[in-house]
Amino acid sequence: STFDLVPFVRSCLEVATIATQKQVKVIFNPDVERLDLLADEAHLKNVLGNLLDNAIKYSDDPVQITVTLKDRTNDVVLSIADKGKGIPAEHLPRVFDMFFRVPAGTVHEVKGFGLGLAYVKHVLEQHAGRIRVQSEIGKGSIFTINIPKNQL
Ligand code: ATP
Ligand code: MG
Repeated sequence: STFDLVPFVRSCLEVATIATQKQVKVIFNPDVERLDLLADEAHLKNVLGNLLDNAIKYSDDPVQITVTLKDRTNDVVLSIADKGKGIPAEHLPRVFDMFFRVPAGTVHEVKGFGLGLAYVKHVLEQHAGRIRVQSEIGKGSIFTINIPKNQL
């Protein structure tokens, strides 16, 4: 069904910051006051939950997350940026693969199954959307999602 992405993103951010011991500073910059989208709200909530969970768990305390929301002609663009550990360039092409994790001991010692981003990619494909990642080791990562407005 259709829902407004602005309060939706706010509530996902709230949930993610409450669910951690780390101090999380969030900057949310929506381009518009409201943005109605026809999408699977429950799955999209998990998508944001996974991306925010990663942003927090692969960043040192205190965490800084910047979220942008843009209303384009044909699609909605959502980006989630962190200032965390980053992902080595050689591993970037595989982060959306099932069970792939950046090898432990190199960058981080954080637990996980390597399933979150595979799930995220799957949900976006079901919405005829896509996800991209830009990352620099030691500087942080930006995950950018595009969802077409007239899918389903
Ligand atoms: P889980 O199944 O619990 O999500 P996970 O976090 O290891 O486990 P993914 O979310 O699929 O799995 O992420 C895959 C890998 O990509 C992670 O193990 C981590 O190495 C890297 N990664 C993902 N997001 C980030 C991020 N924001 N910053 C740095 N590395 C990241
Ligand atoms: Mg994860």
